[in-house]
Amino acid sequence: MGQPGTPTQLPLVLTTLWAAAVVLELVYVLVLGPGPPPLGPLAQALQLALAVFQLLNLLGNVGLFLRSDPSIRGVMLAGRGLGQGWAYCYQCQSQVPPRSGHCSVCRVCILRRDHHCRLLGRCVGFHNYRHFLCLLLHATGVLLHVSVLLGPALSALLQAHAPLHTAALLLLPWLMLLTGRVSLAQFALAFVMDTCVAGALLCGAGLLFHGTLLLRGQTTWEWARGQHSYDQGARHNLQAALGPRWALIWLWPFLTSPLPGDGITFQTTADVGLMAS
Ligand SMILES: [Zn+2]
Ligand SMILES: [Zn+2]
Repeated sequence: MGQPGTPTQLPLVLTTLWAAAVVLELVYVLVLGPGPPPLGPLAQALQLALAVFQLLNLLGNVGLFLRSDPSIRGVMLAGRGLGQGWAYCYQCQSQVPPRSGHCSVCRVCILRRDHHCRLLGRCVGFHNYRHFLCLLLHATGVLLHVSVLLGPALSALLQAHAPLHTAALLLLPWLMLLTGRVSLAQFALAFVMDTCVAGALLCGAGLLFHGTLLLRGQTTWEWARGQHSYDQGARHNLQAALGPRWALIWLWPFLTSPLPGDGITFQTTADVGLMAS
């Protein structure tokens, strides 16, 4: 069984390098010009407060996502594999509970497995789902914010060149750099702007998709197979996946909101129907 993170450091390294490129470009544009969009003192203070809020939430959720272990490691499962939905995982050599799944990248079964996040190189499961969702929200916000801050630099670039040249730079920045048609500074701006806009769209779409699944009480795996066995109504589904303070966790990554379940046993839609009748 692989140790946490052993085979999966490369995606995290690549994502960190990309984040460093975005930060360097932003510092370059803000310090050397043309700077951020012109704003009054109050709007500037609000923008600064928003940036601090977004960054603390983003970094806090990244840290907590990477630190939490959603796998079956250290979880007492022996002797419990008697109920419906339990299975035997030959790779882990263990009985595994309903909704768990084996990840071939993490090389372990994950409790309430959702999917393997390729950008962070970790699985999303029962114990880190909250931080994954908050990450999607705040990553979308941060990337949109960076795009706005880079706006004046992009508009200067648009004005300095013919529309066709700028369009080619934005669509194929690597090709334009390799053929010597643009400077390194222009390439960096186009590359960072492209990836920030694409990243914001991707994270926004992910948030919409996972938000819908969250309200339905479904994992991505269950959605792909049309299974609805664990839907207990939107409010209960929110509490089951994010804890009792589900409405506030988006504001602060360290806010405690203990999950009501253990990631091993789950109430099904049929259980709730029986209790109600
Ligand atoms: Zn397994
Ligand atoms: Zn995984």
